[in-house]
Amino acid sequence: MFSLKTIDIRQLVLCCSLLFYATTVYSGAAVDASNLRVAVSIKPLKLIASEILGSHDDIAVIVGAAQSPHDYALKMSDIRSIQRADLMIWVGPHFESFLAKIIPKHAATALTVGDLIKLPNTANDRHNPAHESAGEIHSKHAGHHPFERDLHVWLNPYYVETIALAMRDKLITLNPDKAAIFANNTKRFIGTLRSVDNYIGTKLEPVKSKGFYVYHDAYSHFVERYGLNQVGAFKVLPNAALSLKQLSDIKNTLQDGEVYCIFEEPQFDNQFVRRFDVAADIRFGRLDPLATNIAYGPGAYQLFIKGFADTIYQCLGSSGGTE
Ligand SMILES: [Zn+2]
Repeated sequence: MFSLKTIDIRQLVLCCSLLFYATTVYSGAAVDASNLRVAVSIKPLKLIASEILGSHDDIAVIVGAAQSPHDYALKMSDIRSIQRADLMIWVGPHFESFLAKIIPKHAATALTVGDLIKLPNTANDRHNPAHESAGEIHSKHAGHHPFERDLHVWLNPYYVETIALAMRDKLITLNPDKAAIFANNTKRFIGTLRSVDNYIGTKLEPVKSKGFYVYHDAYSHFVERYGLNQVGAFKVLPNAALSLKQLSDIKNTLQDGEVYCIFEEPQFDNQFVRRFDVAADIRFGRLDPLATNIAYGPGAYQLFIKGFADTIYQCLGSSGGTE
């Protein structure tokens, strides 16, 4: 309904931007090429995109702080952000289902990062709320593969390289004048990413056999990258009514000695697990897959994923017991 006017404005903005940048000279280390307007569905994608653009100023985030992409309600202002953007970056329709119909209709150009990664079992409906029954539990003990259909691909730095390269290519297509800047920024980002990847691998090596539980199936890509031992994932929505069988499965899992740590998340009801008789030596940690508390700036993604590893190490490394 806004499309006609918006496209006119967008074309005008793009035209003016190109004119402006065609007359701008960039020297050596100048990395800010943020004349393009970018929108992303979730904050971690902004952390990555800002490394390629060289600035975070012109990147709009749809899902705000302390909100979850799993139950987000779209606002009119979000649609306007999408319409204004030269490039819309999202995970995909099976992750941000609230954007599934909006992006094809309103986005000028979209990059679907979930499509870049070859995932096993990606006949993906798992992030469709219709398939996420309240209190659904995934764990080895419940007989599920806990990792199938996880689209939290930004939690694996190796995949993030692929995502960064695709962002670079899209941005170059949209603004070829800045190709060298985008390419240099990407190269620099990937270099630091590999250092962080090595750091994480080394850091987690001593604790990788220690079992842990997480609140929802967000971590399989991180777990697989570093060979960790995620025993299972609760998938718990607030006020969930759990069956006796589910309660029993959780109870057994938390008492059988395999779990050293339970990782909570800011976006969920973290009192859930405290209803159970959790073995006294199980510790609690907090992981934030949406990078809620990470400040924007150069190196923000690297800080985020490094902090992730440090949190896991602290919880597993000091939880006592034997391997
Ligand atoms: Zn999630």
